Amino acid sequence: MPAAEIIAIGTELLLGESLDTNTAFIARTLRDYGVDIYRTMIVGDNAGRISEAIRESLSRAQIIITTGGLGPTVDDPTREAVALATHTELIFHPELWEQIQERFRRYNRQPTENNRRQAYLPDGAVAIPNPVGTAPAFYVPVGDKVIICLPGVPSEMETILFQSVIPLLRSKFDLREVIRAYVLHAAGVGESQVDEWLADLEKQSNPTVGLLAHPGQVDIRITAKAASIEECDQMIQKTVRQIYERMGFAIFGINQQKLEQVVAEKLRELNWEIFIAVAGFPEEVKKRLETVALNVQNLLFLPYTEWDKLLESHQQNPAFSQSHIGLIASLKRGEQQQQLTIYLRTPQDIEKITRSYGGPPSLAGTWAMRTMLEFVRRRLPSNPSGEDNL
Ligand code: ATP
Ligand code: MG
Repeated sequence: MPAAEIIAIGTELLLGESLDTNTAFIARTLRDYGVDIYRTMIVGDNAGRISEAIRESLSRAQIIITTGGLGPTVDDPTREAVALATHTELIFHPELWEQIQERFRRYNRQPTENNRRQAYLPDGAVAIPNPVGTAPAFYVPVGDKVIICLPGVPSEMETILFQSVIPLLRSKFDLREVIRAYVLHAAGVGESQVDEWLADLEKQSNPTVGLLAHPGQVDIRITAKAASIEECDQMIQKTVRQIYERMGFAIFGINQQKLEQVVAEKLRELNWEIFIAVAGFPEEVKKRLETVALNVQNLLFLPYTEWDKLLESHQQNPAFSQSHIGLIASLKRGEQQQQLTIYLRTPQDIEKITRSYGGPPSLAGTWAMRTMLEFVRRRLPSNPSGEDNL
């Protein structure tokens, strides 16, 4: 497997003024195509320091990918940095200048003298067409290694990465294997229980199935290797189906999805409102519900003494309307164990559960939050199985 390093270029990234999302995107994509990632770096807009970074990376890896700093201004230093790192001169490419002018003509704009800079590439560089922007990308073969320079604008970088860079790497480094990963998120079940259900799948070698436990949540990661993405996806889907057959009721989402998001979306779809009263873990509730703008009518944070009173009045309350659910949750923090009690009132009935947590007390709030939300999620009308409630 060839190894790669990624260098993100931009003083604004270095100083934390804007977020380097390109590195993560490139790393994930290369990983998917069977390239190892050794190291990533952020370097400011300084040709000398960028060229040092490139030289260092060349001593460790075969593939060096830079992103950013290809624009037309003097502080876009990538071209110069690559020339310095490879001990070459910048050479003017009339055909690139023609392409840049043509692109400007299409948008009815005039290129400036500065744009001419973009037609200079280090000696030995090969231009990579940029169908979505003006800055031409390029690569420079260095022995059996390669330096690939991509624009900083994420949409341009992504297009060029898929259209040109991946095919280039696949032929140059004979990449035959594609790796794809897929994550299922489960809640309301313990890791050991999931482990028992999936024990045989966890022994498979391709796709592999691995578990990762968080407070109140278990992630199931399925990773497949094959000759194509389609083949990987087929293998993954087969395993995903087996997992759903065994524990679909506990799976709330996939990949980037979060439980609070899933519950909030479901409630919004149903046009339901939720009343929540919690005692013992207000911070976690506030933080998470804020991020998803959950339609909470009353969010009460109570001392334990009030909690009992509320429960009493809640039980005596006239029936809720069809679109309201009421949730009362209390977390009692002990030395050894944290005890969570939840009352849920749906249009149909009132239910109560008690769960305990033996993990670190500092994580008990997150555990309680997820357990509470999963309790609600499994009772929302479209829950496909409806059985095996928490
Ligand atoms: P351009 O021709 O548009 O100037 P460029 O290659 O010079 O392209 P930069 O000037 O470095 O790219 O960055 C352009 C914009 O792209 C930045 O303002 C920033 O919003 C975004 N960008 C740059 N680098 C990154 C990165 N690593 N992650 C996410 N966004 C980035
Ligand atoms: Mg720029």
